[in-house]
Amino acid sequence: MSGTRGNQCDHGPGGSMSQISYDQWLARRCGLPEGFSQAQLDAWQLAALRQRALYAFAHSRFYRELYAGIDLPRAAPGELPLISGEDIARAGTAMACLSQTSIQRIVTMETSGSTGLPKRIYFSAADLELTVDFFAQGMTYMVSPGDKVLICMPGHNPDGLNDLLSRGLRRINVEPCYYGLVSDLADAATTIRAYRPDCIVAIPGQMLALAESAPDLRPPRLLLSADNVPDELRRRIEDLWHTEVFAHWGMRETGLGGAVECGEHQGYHIRHADLLLEIVDPLSGRALPDGQRGELVISTFNREAMPLLRYRTGDIAHLIAAPCGCGSGLKRLGPVQGHKLMEVIR
Ligand SMILES: [Zn+2]
Repeated sequence: MSGTRGNQCDHGPGGSMSQISYDQWLARRCGLPEGFSQAQLDAWQLAALRQRALYAFAHSRFYRELYAGIDLPRAAPGELPLISGEDIARAGTAMACLSQTSIQRIVTMETSGSTGLPKRIYFSAADLELTVDFFAQGMTYMVSPGDKVLICMPGHNPDGLNDLLSRGLRRINVEPCYYGLVSDLADAATTIRAYRPDCIVAIPGQMLALAESAPDLRPPRLLLSADNVPDELRRRIEDLWHTEVFAHWGMRETGLGGAVECGEHQGYHIRHADLLLEIVDPLSGRALPDGQRGELVISTFNREAMPLLRYRTGDIAHLIAAPCGCGSGLKRLGPVQGHKLMEVIR
């Protein structure tokens, strides 16, 4: 996978996107006034969830059966049944809301469930664009126009992680360069010395190994994703490299992008315009109050090919209601622990 890939770096013209704050971006995406409150966002998200449930009911056999008898225009989130990876595997195309000809990308994941069936998640071109848009905005926390980003992640196929992230970066006039997973520390170090990225996007354990073996590299900023980012690991990398470590949470079910830290590092700023995140009791399925750890449940508001509504991720997390040091008063996601994080690949 590894190799000196400077020749894959993109020097093409960037897009144009004025620099706005994350919450201004959310305001635009949700059609809410600037400076909107969490209460306004809650109301917007409830309406968006109901609308997407109606859309799913109208276009998908799976959801039509699941929501039979539910008053969808007035349903509270808790009235919509939770769904699992097993449901996705069993439903197959019955969960899709678009015809196969409108599907741009199919992501296949093995499940550990009793059926042994893989689960497949369908994305339209518009669904993928939502992720590109989030990447473009989220990356502005750590890069500026003219910067260079080295991507040390798997997923080099069309519409895969590297492709979507690179498209987002070009949109904010940042140059992406794909390296891939680090399998040869010396080779990765040589590439970084030659390319001098302003930010590296990588997997936590791989960057720790690289920092231990080449403490002189000192990239200014690091974005860690696809796995837990323990505090100890973060501190060790920051000490070795004198770098600022950011963390991102996402999974293939969220369309890869999900939530990202700002420079205050007080939790992950959520992709609120596209995702409803809930925390439920893993046993009873009942919603838990902010701050309490439980199972993370996601709903996608805008996905047209296959909306996931109240999908149990199997990951454990909590929501943070206290305002962030950056000034945002919106809820954020706390550290996520889960076995599915490494699925953010390919
Ligand atoms: Zn913040």
